[in-house]
Formats: sequence, structure tokens, C-alpha cells
Amino acid sequence: MKVLISADMEGTCGVVSWVRVMPPEGTAGEPTSQTEYERARLRMTREVNAAIEGALAGGAEEVIVNDSHDGMRNLIPEELHPACRFISGNDKLLGMMQGADLAGVGAVFYTGYHARAGTPAAPLAHTWTDWLNDVRFDGMSTGEFGINAAIAGHYGVPVTLVTGDDKAVAQTREFLGDQIVGVAVKEGISTFAALHLHPARAIALIRDGAYQAVAAAALASPYILDSGATVELDFDHQARADQAVLCPGVERAGERTVAFRPGDGLQLCRTFRAVMKLAGIRMSP
Ligand SMILES: [Zn+2]
Repeated sequence: MKVLISADMEGTCGVVSWVRVMPPEGTAGEPTSQTEYERARLRMTREVNAAIEGALAGGAEEVIVNDSHDGMRNLIPEELHPACRFISGNDKLLGMMQGADLAGVGAVFYTGYHARAGTPAAPLAHTWTDWLNDVRFDGMSTGEFGINAAIAGHYGVPVTLVTGDDKAVAQTREFLGDQIVGVAVKEGISTFAALHLHPARAIALIRDGAYQAVAAAALASPYILDSGATVELDFDHQARADQAVLCPGVERAGERTVAFRPGDGLQLCRTFRAVMKLAGIRMSP
């Protein structure tokens, strides 16, 4: 069995600030700190390496890492575990789940994941961007962990590991089931504060969790989006919904809400990402 690691960054131990996760060419228009970002990407890479080590010790035949944060060029190639192959760059159909369609992939691991938009006491909690207030599958609120699980599920691949802050772990397990191994590397205090483990301790726990998560794949079920499921997106502004309905199949469902029925996880990926492109307009001249 091969393992795909979807490596996000906000849930990395020690990270509580956007400046730590925005590369200098970041898209948010925020000032960035080269030093803080460089430290955080090294810690992110080390946490991914711990997951690779655990996966290989647990019997995975190969580990493929998909850089899943921002421009998706955060992992430091020469610092990565030499046994892995890795995907970098942003132009990829499956986004954070690129690689789930590769032959032999039997489990997805989430590393560095964060809680869904609106979650209190959860560092850098958001869903995709800072202007999407909620995502619901048939009325159930979810985050990136749910969207990505549905994409992986389309290819029959279950998620079996999540590492990140305590709320990210709890929400992922609540949404996808207790069979998912969870490793909390920090306890959220607020959006920009957390009580962290020492990074070395976080790495040791991630290695152990990844080891267990290989075995968990034998019992885990992929998350299959119901073929009739309604997906709703709440934006922060009605103008975004005006744009989103230009996407075929997407209807207005409220002042700042749109809805669509993707039918399966791949169509969810296509429509969601198209809507997010359309709705990502500048709100002021
Ligand atoms: Zn991210």
C-alpha cells in the first residue's frame, strides 16, 4: 500500500500567525517575515518526515507527499525524507488531494491541518480562504478535512491520520469517524495563540501516529459523498454569491449562500474550486 500525505502548514507545531505560513510571494497581501516563514516551513517539513518514517515503519511500500498549503511550494526538498516522492506547485486538478488517484494509494494522511472556519480557540481556523464562512454537506458543517476526504473517497481512499491543533483533530474525527488516528501538536487558545508541545515531542507523536495509521487503513472506509448531497457555501459578502452562480449548476440559496449538487467527490472538487475562483473578487477598488 502507498500512502499519500496531504501536508498543510497552519496546524504545524509552533505556528499561530499568518506571517509564519505566508511565503514572501504570498497572495494575501500581508507583510511576510522571511525568517518566521523559513523556520515554520522547516518545522512543517520535519513533521512530514516524521509521518513518512512512521508510515514506512508501519509497512507502507511508498509515501508520496503533496504540498497542500498556499502556493504549494513550502516543503524544503533537500530536507525531505529521501524515501519519499513529492508533489509541489499549485496547478493541479485535485489540489490538496493531488495523488489520491495514483495506483496503489491506500490511505491519506493529513499533516499540519487546521480547524474549519469560525472555530473558536483554534489557531488560524479557516476553510480555504478568509472569506468563506462555512461549507455544509447536507446541512453538516465541515472544513478542508471534509472536502478533501470526499475527493479522496471518490478514488476509494480513506483518510486515516490527522495531525494539527486539537480542534482540527476533534473535528476531523467527528466528521470522518473515530478510526482516524489523531495527533494534536498544540491546544488552541485563540485564533492567534496556542499551547504547544515541544516540536521534538510533536515529531515523536506524529511518527507513532503514522505507524498506527497504516494499520488503520485496513479497517477504514473512504468517505463517499452522497450522490444526492447538497453542498452549501456561505460567503462573507453577497457580491461573492453574485459571481458564484455564474458556475453551471450553482444556485443562489440565500443572501450570501450558494448551493449545488456535485454528485461525487471529483465534481465537488471541480465545482468548489471553480466557485472559489469566481467568488475571489476584490471587494474594494
Ligand atoms: Zn494552509
